[in-house]
Amino acid sequence: MRAGPLLLPGVRHAADLVLTSDEATLRTQMELSEIPAPAFDEGARGLRMQALLAAAGLPEPGVDDVGNVVAVRPGSEGGPPLVVSAHLDTVFPPGTDVSVHREGDTLRGPGISDDARGLATLLSVARAMNGAGIVTRAPVLFVATVGEEGIGDLRGVKHLFAPGGAGHGAAGFLSLDGAGLDGVVIEGLGSRRYRVEVAGPGGHSWADWGMPNPIHALVELGRGLTKIELGLDPVSTLTIGRIGGGTSVNAIPQHAWVEIDTRSAAGHRLDMLEVDIRAQVEAARRAWDGLDVAITVIGDRPCGATSRDAPLVRAAFDATRAVGGHPKPALSSTDANVPMALGIPALTIGCGGEAGLAHTTDEWYRNTGGANGVLRALYTVVLTAGVTDAE
Ligand SMILES: [Zn+2]
Repeated sequence: MRAGPLLLPGVRHAADLVLTSDEATLRTQMELSEIPAPAFDEGARGLRMQALLAAAGLPEPGVDDVGNVVAVRPGSEGGPPLVVSAHLDTVFPPGTDVSVHREGDTLRGPGISDDARGLATLLSVARAMNGAGIVTRAPVLFVATVGEEGIGDLRGVKHLFAPGGAGHGAAGFLSLDGAGLDGVVIEGLGSRRYRVEVAGPGGHSWADWGMPNPIHALVELGRGLTKIELGLDPVSTLTIGRIGGGTSVNAIPQHAWVEIDTRSAAGHRLDMLEVDIRAQVEAARRAWDGLDVAITVIGDRPCGATSRDAPLVRAAFDATRAVGGHPKPALSSTDANVPMALGIPALTIGCGGEAGLAHTTDEWYRNTGGANGVLRALYTVVLTAGVTDAE
């Protein structure tokens, strides 16, 4: 194990700061979790993150055009930065009760782990690096992203890595997401999502019977979609997630819609599924005279992967072992998908402790050995960005 840099006095000092601030990290996690951050409305939590990053000693944290909070910590050698990131947004709609309840080491509240834990860890790492005066070779860009979940469609991280974004051309990307001490997400599960809308004249269910019916058209289309061959190498999925429309039980609808989610670890599989889906929608359009049938892409998360030999992955594995974890390569859909697809080494790790019932209002986080998750993040940053000196 390349533990050398972890034994430097400055890094040891930073590790001590992480361990002694375990309780403060939990309090920050609770505080951030209680600031609502639904998709496209992450501003309030972003402002608080901006203030906390400044309080952690990062110079002039800013907010970019889409709402990402960004703060650069300079390195001794300049060059492209290592990005360390957690996401601001939650899946919970406006009005959700986001209060956190604490029973000993267990915290309950929507979003308490995903990703209030990541945000608190990001801050704890920044505080410890500054508190110990660590000087890294490469700059480290601390980021809190918007739009990681669902309909956000990774819009924050897409902007971050686009030309003009603060992370454009970065050397690597480390995403801190949720709990856990072993998993290292090095494969990005891609997804493509569609909405099909069908519209017609509608009418009375008796007097106008025989008029083309948008829901009948969608039911037939849905039946065809569930028969699509999905393939096993790699496993791909197709899910009709939502369906709606109509006015009344005794009316021929004027409008109906369906939303479809496809997923795979291979981009060509998503392409093949798209061809099949569009062919069926086209067939429905031809078969249903008098109905407008339209399909739009409502989500597109690219696939990607980071080589196990990439220095960032080796660093994350070494850091995991250094805190007593057992590194396990994993596949998931996270902010890391976007840099992976761009060829930038990227991965996602959990931030210690245990959690469950994510994406439900009963979500919980238990801080069992939680500080080790923060240490794992700190060590991954230090091993990847390199350390020249410490005060
Ligand atoms: Zn998350």
